[in-house]
Amino acid sequence: MDRRKFLVSAGLGTMALVSPISLSAVGIATRKTGKTGRLNLHFSPYELQLRHAFNLAKYSRTTTPDVQVRIELDGIVGYGEASMPPYLGESVESVTKFLSSLDLSQFSDPFRIEDIHEYMESVAPDNRAAKASVDIALHDLVGKIMGQPWYKIWGLNPDLAPDTSFTIGIDKADVVRKKVDEAAPYNVLKVKMGLDNDKELVEIIRSKTDRPICVDANQGWDDKERALEMCHWLAERNCLFVEQPMPKEKIDETAWLRERSPLPIVADEFFQRLPDVKRAHGAYDAINIKLMKSTGMHEAYKMVAAARALGMKVMLGCMTETSCGISAAAQLAPMVDWADLDGNLLIANDIFDGAKIVNGKVSVPIDRPGIGAVPLV
Ligand code: MG
Repeated sequence: MDRRKFLVSAGLGTMALVSPISLSAVGIATRKTGKTGRLNLHFSPYELQLRHAFNLAKYSRTTTPDVQVRIELDGIVGYGEASMPPYLGESVESVTKFLSSLDLSQFSDPFRIEDIHEYMESVAPDNRAAKASVDIALHDLVGKIMGQPWYKIWGLNPDLAPDTSFTIGIDKADVVRKKVDEAAPYNVLKVKMGLDNDKELVEIIRSKTDRPICVDANQGWDDKERALEMCHWLAERNCLFVEQPMPKEKIDETAWLRERSPLPIVADEFFQRLPDVKRAHGAYDAINIKLMKSTGMHEAYKMVAAARALGMKVMLGCMTETSCGISAAAQLAPMVDWADLDGNLLIANDIFDGAKIVNGKVSVPIDRPGIGAVPLV
């Protein structure tokens, strides 16, 4: 985009139709056009290209819609993003509509994260990924102003982050074997289940490695007896837990399963916002927190505290995201029991440098302030 077109779009306060490839150039222009001493919000759609088709129990896809966000204050830029896998109900259209309806220029203090969340809730309910994109950019901005990464601001020890898992999607046997080879740097694997060949998938992986496996059934097991049989079978094959074994509406059946299962039962599709922690208690052993569900880092931190108070375990997951969203989530990793933060590695067109896999853990750059991600261009 040339400078004249950018000024027009910024001046209208509507969707900034800029290519994310020109993020740094746009940042320079923003400093000259944004309101001084006020938060300036800009955003642009960006389609994530997946390295492998993503085959889940209910659908398959090769791209994920995404919106990149920047919040600028007096020349300092915070980055965030919204990733919208279709099952969550958000889209590029809904996210850009929500972001267009926000007036962040009423705020001059980015440390007022709680106030800004209350304002976003007052503008419209839901829109969780859209709110997360603002939340992540705010945290990045605040961390940069403080000159500190968020794990330090929260007082966390990065050495306590658990191993992160690498997802092996449902696929043909030769593709599954190839994915297991790609997952060599990881100490834990994760498999997607919920189709007729569930056992075959685990057998193929077990023919190549004994590494522990996390299982995600993505609501694929309708029958509680079959789900229980699968839990026993998986427990005998060094599996760690089962994520969302049954449809999210089947709360009583899930509670029945949890009482009998030798493996912990983790809530994912069932679990979205903070009040869901209490709803999940009793039917699930653990919750899967994802920033795109939690409206970002602020509520995710509260979710961990709420789950701990109820004696529940915590998993930290993600969508397919760039290293922007993954780095933001990785700041929380020392607080959780299980991490599944491989979303940036599943895409072919990442535009950030950030969290990396080190000795099987997702590690953020230790002294990089904010969320720890910087644009590659
Ligand atoms: Mg899941």
